[in-house]
Amino acid sequence: MKYPKEVRTFCPNCNSHQLHKVRLASKGRARSMAVGNRKHERSLHGHGGKRAGEKTVKKQGKRQKIILECQNCKKKQERVVGTRTKKKLEIKA
Ligand SMILES: [Zn+2]
Repeated sequence: MKYPKEVRTFCPNCNSHQLHKVRLASKGRARSMAVGNRKHERSLHGHGGKRAGEKTVKKQGKRQKIILECQNCKKKQERVVGTRTKKKLEIKA
């Protein structure tokens, strides 16, 4: 999926449409003590097995986030781009 480098969209701070610069939101640092990570660690040590008859889940793709930076007030806002995509978002001119 492709996305333009600059978009003219609503800025809540300026309360009007302004030109925004677009970049892909990065994932941030993983928290090793988060519930999901602790569960995963336990399963790696052999706790909790496969349940019989349970279907494996197909990968659904990610809902990707972009960061819009207002060129007027320099404030940033996040936005989720449309549908789930399997490929990384391409930000092009
Ligand atoms: Zn603004």
